[in-house]
Amino acid sequence: MTKVLINGSKGRMGQALLGCAARMPDLQVVAGIDVGDDLNAAIEACDVVIEFSFHSVTAKVARTCAEHRKALVIGTTGHAEAEKAVIREAARSIPMVWATNFSTGVNTLFWLTRKATEILGSGFDIEVVEMHHRLKKDAPSGTATTLLEVIAEARKLELEKALRHGRQGITGERTQGEIGIHALRGGDVVGDHTVIFAANGERVELTHKASSRDTFAAGALRAAQWVVGRPPGIYDMQHVLGLK
Ligand code: NAD
Repeated sequence: MTKVLINGSKGRMGQALLGCAARMPDLQVVAGIDVGDDLNAAIEACDVVIEFSFHSVTAKVARTCAEHRKALVIGTTGHAEAEKAVIREAARSIPMVWATNFSTGVNTLFWLTRKATEILGSGFDIEVVEMHHRLKKDAPSGTATTLLEVIAEARKLELEKALRHGRQGITGERTQGEIGIHALRGGDVVGDHTVIFAANGERVELTHKASSRDTFAAGALRAAQWVVGRPPGIYDMQHVLGLK
């Protein structure tokens, strides 16, 4: 029986996690924490913390998990470099699964994007388009950022230099070494991601559309069961799915 604490339990993902966990007989939610609750007081009862709250919260949660030697699953996105550094430091003493997307479909999209980038080569221009609900607080999405990292690595490009966030005004012609990213916001869209590979005379588009947060919740709960008892370090969903 895996004992789980959910941080951000009143949020959209927190609620999806609680719903999915209730259907899993071999997993027990021992605490749900949200703004104003004391993580320190509740953490001892769990084996693993699942963190889906806000980027500025995760570093503190990671430190607390490290102090109490509890495993951690991080789904929160939008971290600044300084926040990432604290999280990485905590991973020296505890195991954590840190993934921008927990769905099996999106992790397949990551794999397909790498393959397509390698096969199609530099003659294809690559643009990423993502759409999310109007309440999402960070852009581009963490999933889109991972897709961009996968593309830049496969193309051997320096991501910071290659990135073009939207386009406006007299931009000049598109250069071969750029990767475009476009973030759309509106309505209740759970999460759509498309990678476009465009060449002269043909175009390949890889698309994933999430229609329910349950797909992320089920993956995060699976990651929680997987990570307990692992050696310290940072794992991602590809490890959990056995793809690495
Ligand atoms: P949300 O705004 O609906 O929920 C966040 C919750 O965290 C809220 O209830 C808020 O009160 C709570 N919170 C804020 N500060 C807190 C604190 N100090 N301690 C405890 N709780 C705190 O957001 P959401 O849609 O549930 O998304 C949460 C995060 O998860 C976002 O960063 C989002 O991008 C990410 N996300 C990741 C995946 C994935 O698969 N990795 C999927 C969906 C969303």
